[in-house]
Amino acid sequence: MDFSFTPEQFAIRDSVAKLCERFDATYWLERDRDGGFPDDFHRAIADAGWLGIAMPAEHGGAGLGITEAALMMQTISESGAGFSGASAVHMNIFGLNPVVVFGSAEQKKRWLPPLIRGEQKACFAVTEPDAGLNTAKLKTSARREGDHYVLRGQKIWISTAQVAAKLLILARTAPAGAKPTDGLSLFYTDLDRRYVEVREIEKMGRKAVDSNLLFIEELPVPAVDLIGADSKGFDYILHGLNPERILIAAEAIGLGRAALARAVAYAGERVVFDRPIGQNQAIQHPLARCWMELEAAQLMVLKAASLYDKGQPCGAEANAAKFLAAEACFRACETAMLTHGGMGYAKEYHIERYFREAMIPRLAPVSPQLILCFIAEKVLGLPKSY
Ligand SMILES: Cc1cc2nc3c(=O)[nH]c(=O)nc-3n(C[C@H](O)[C@H](O)[C@H](O)COP(=O)(O)OP(=O)(O)OC[C@H]3O[C@@H](n4cnc5c(N)ncnc54)[C@H](O)[C@@H]3O)c2cc1C
Repeated sequence: MDFSFTPEQFAIRDSVAKLCERFDATYWLERDRDGGFPDDFHRAIADAGWLGIAMPAEHGGAGLGITEAALMMQTISESGAGFSGASAVHMNIFGLNPVVVFGSAEQKKRWLPPLIRGEQKACFAVTEPDAGLNTAKLKTSARREGDHYVLRGQKIWISTAQVAAKLLILARTAPAGAKPTDGLSLFYTDLDRRYVEVREIEKMGRKAVDSNLLFIEELPVPAVDLIGADSKGFDYILHGLNPERILIAAEAIGLGRAALARAVAYAGERVVFDRPIGQNQAIQHPLARCWMELEAAQLMVLKAASLYDKGQPCGAEANAAKFLAAEACFRACETAMLTHGGMGYAKEYHIERYFREAMIPRLAPVSPQLILCFIAEKVLGLPKSY
């Protein structure tokens, strides 16, 4: 068992960290205060070739694995960019996995290069107001009319839809079959705003990266924009779920580490009762615990990523990584806030921003409860509870 990174993996971490230095804490504080997509950050990442890190080399990507992509996303988040930075590029990194695996040669050629070059942004529309985590209950419909489909329905929480030119969307083309998720189809198509109203949701954190309600009214979608076979879309989405959980977990660890670093620095500087607060065990121990929890979660992230890259099953590990990393991140941000005392609540110390962002990996893309249900059923062999 080898726990060391390769020289290439170290180089990825160093190069991404160097690039991120150009976007300092003040930059992210302003993005968080004023909103507006961090276009210059997205462009810098694209220009340096990082958007294609896990995309096939024949279409302009680097053809590396999810391990390298996770390292990159963790580094972005850890730089202090947190989820404001990570979510700005997250969809480009692995969102189009269903196209890579199940798309035709013509579709890959048409869709992947502009995404890798950063010329196009995409959003991923699964969640619906009335279905929640029960994807089988999705109501957005796609009816076939000659050489195209017509989509109508609503989606909720769709991130980056304000700036996206493209839409990866799951819609029902046929009634549920033997499996309740049969009949769902996956499309990658233009987000044509003549037919889709995109309404931003005012939310708790990550103001720089929008999340939205989508009202889809008779959106025409060319049949050539259907990925793979009609009615098999859910199976294609499933294929990309594990890598997505691994990336989110890595991003959460990055944010937790950023919070921990600030807390440790503050604990060393802040003098109360004539001694640095970090000299008190009541301050030290929670920080030490956070370090251990983040390190342990990182091992699970790397185990899941390594299994995925070897083509082995990694569902339990990817879900466990997402769960553990999100909880460790949240605890680190909370501990950093408490370490800062009242100043933790002031925006200029950045911790309150991290604290608000720390809720994202707990809530999305799947809840902690559903991960526990999954582990109980699939790993422990207990009856399905949902
Ligand atoms: C910032 C942010 C960005 C997002 N971006 C996107 C995006 O880009 N694209 C997209 O499609 N979605 C996105 N989402 C949506 C996200 O994936 C969903 O919010 C998440 O999957 C949970 O679904 P829900 O909100 O409908 O919760 P619900 O399904 O309504 O669940 C509510 C609560 O009930 C619990 N619950 C439900 N059933 C059970 C059960 N049987 N047992 C135990 N507990 C249960 C859940 O765990 C949860 O705690 C985003 C969400 C957020 C907050």
